[in-house]
Amino acid sequence: MRVALLYRDRLTLRGFDEDLRTRLAAALAQGGIAAKPGQVPTRVEGNAGAWRLTLPSGDTLDVPWLLNATGRRPNTASLALDTVGISTDSKHAVIVDLMCQTALPHAYAIGDVTNRKNLTPVAIAEGRAVADRLFGQPVAQPDLDRVATGVFTLPPIGTIGPSEHELAASGAKLRVYEADFKPMRHAFTGRGERCYMKLLVDDASDRVLAVHMLGADAPEIVQSLAVAMTAGATKAHFDATIAVHPTVAEEFVLMRTLKRRVNWRKRSASVSTRRPAAVQLNSQREHRRAAHRLFS
Ligand SMILES: Cc1cc2nc3c(=O)[nH]c(=O)nc-3n(C[C@H](O)[C@H](O)[C@H](O)COP(=O)(O)OP(=O)(O)OC[C@H]3O[C@@H](n4cnc5c(N)ncnc54)[C@H](O)[C@@H]3O)c2cc1C
Repeated sequence: MRVALLYRDRLTLRGFDEDLRTRLAAALAQGGIAAKPGQVPTRVEGNAGAWRLTLPSGDTLDVPWLLNATGRRPNTASLALDTVGISTDSKHAVIVDLMCQTALPHAYAIGDVTNRKNLTPVAIAEGRAVADRLFGQPVAQPDLDRVATGVFTLPPIGTIGPSEHELAASGAKLRVYEADFKPMRHAFTGRGERCYMKLLVDDASDRVLAVHMLGADAPEIVQSLAVAMTAGATKAHFDATIAVHPTVAEEFVLMRTLKRRVNWRKRSASVSTRRPAAVQLNSQREHRRAAHRLFS
């Protein structure tokens, strides 16, 4: 079966680390998927089993099957939330602070309707934290900057924390460690599949701010690393961890060689564990901006 992937941007997975995006593009191409960046069909005609797509260039693409990923937005427009004092943004997401509180002090919003980290475990954790705080003990909301995420492409992606681009833009002085290699198992299979790993470290505090991986089992691997990240692991902790050999994951504790420095000439920015008092997080972009403030 031949597969073509048509999308708006020059790469798939907008918002993810650029090194993951470029390597995924290469891996998908190697897997036989034809990438068509910047090619959003202007017209779709046909019936099940025989679709014709018209591309911006005027060319047509005939395919038997078509999957359209439309995106989504919070379904609040008809609720007239503003009439009771609950603010929403341009995508109709409910605006909340870091405690999930809306502009109406006794109204809270959790999960996708706030359009921040749109993931099932995040919605559950946010709801549990709000309920605990209102009816039980005072607990903090989950730290959305340390949420591990998996993308189940082939090969899959596992990621924790901001992209290198986002951290660089925040002014943080970073050390970047990378590994890009062919896993041992493919030395025997002859397959060209590679594995890419990256650690982004705050130079002032030595804390690991982000982990990015493209390769087999990446979501499984970063889930475990997320525990260490939540506990505030530093690069020294990674270096002091004994490797499990032979595994792919051991590369994360064997990255001794600094690959590059970011913002090295600029004023050092250390990581604060304090959260800003009242940050309005009403879109993915604003959430990322708030994340930057955490690191400045
Ligand atoms: C295709 C797809 C794949 C996904 N894969 C993953 C994944 O692999 N891992 C992961 O963690 N997350 C995944 N997600 C995201 C995950 O589904 C959401 O983050 C999660 O469901 C959010 O939970 P929620 O309770 O906030 O919202 P929802 O689960 O969307 O629940 C909202 C509910 O409110 C109802 N509703 C909507 N509007 C109104 C209204 N105006 N009035 C009354 N009721 C209303 C809806 O019918 C729905 O029942 C995926 C999402 C999609 C769309």
